[in-house]
Amino acid sequence: MLQVTEIFKSIQGESSYAGLPCAFVRLTGCNLRCTWCDTKYAFHGGKEMSQQDIIAAVDKLFEETKMSRTARSKRVLRGRRTKNPLQGSQESSHAQQSFSPLPHRKLVEVTGGEPLLQEEVYPLMQKFIETGYTVLLETGGSLLLDRVPQPVIKIVDLKAPASGEANKNRMENLDHLNPEDEIKFVIQDRQDYEWARSLIHQHHLENKAGILMSPVFDVLDLRNLAEWILQDKLPVRLQTQLHKHIWGKDSIGV
Ligand code: SF4
Repeated sequence: MLQVTEIFKSIQGESSYAGLPCAFVRLTGCNLRCTWCDTKYAFHGGKEMSQQDIIAAVDKLFEETKMSRTARSKRVLRGRRTKNPLQGSQESSHAQQSFSPLPHRKLVEVTGGEPLLQEEVYPLMQKFIETGYTVLLETGGSLLLDRVPQPVIKIVDLKAPASGEANKNRMENLDHLNPEDEIKFVIQDRQDYEWARSLIHQHHLENKAGILMSPVFDVLDLRNLAEWILQDKLPVRLQTQLHKHIWGKDSIGV
C-alpha cells in the first residue's frame, strides 16, 4: 500500500514536458523542509491506496478526458478543473533528445513530498511503464536513485543554499542519470545562481542530463534569471512553473 496525498490531471508545469497533459500521483511525506516549499500539504495525511487502485484512478482520468473533452474545455474556460478523485555542443543534441516528449503516450508524474520514501513506489513506477505510460519521477535528490526503473525519466533537484537543504544533496546520484533525465535547480537569489553555475561547470552537468533552472515563484524575477543565464552562456533550460501562471500560485490539485 502507498500513502497518497492526491491524484489529478493537469497541464505539466515544469521540465521539458511542460505544456503537455499529465496525470500526477502525489505521494505523502517528505524528509526535507525546503524554505520555499509549495507542497507542505503533502507532508502529512493522505490516503492509503493499493498500486492497483492508483493505476485505476490514473486510467480513469485519461478515460474521462477522452470521453468528455468538449465538456471539459467548456469547464476550463469557466475556470473549473478536473476534481481530485481523492477529495473525499552536447547541449543542442541533448535539447533535441529531451524535447521529444512522446505526446501520443499517456504521461504520468510520480511526485511528492518525496516519492522515493515509500518502498512500493518502485513497483508502482514499473507497473505504469508496463501499462504503456511515460513516467516522470520528481525527486528531491536526497535519496539514492539506483533502484529507479530505467525507463522512468528522473527529474532530480539539486537543492541550492537558500532552500536550507543543500547539505542533503546526494552527489553520487549524478552517476545514476541517463541523458533523458533532468537536473533541476530552483534559484532564490544571486548566491543560489552562482552556486548552481559553479556546480554545472565543476561536474560538466550538461553531459549527464538536461539542466532546468527556475526561479522561486514570486521571489526571484524570471527576467533577472534569464539575463544571468544569457550572460554566462549557461547550458540550461530556463523554466517557470507554468501551472501557477495558469491557475494561480496557491492552487492545489492542478
Ligand atoms: S523536497 Fe519538495 S516536497 Fe520536500 S520540502 Fe523540498 S520542495 Fe517541499
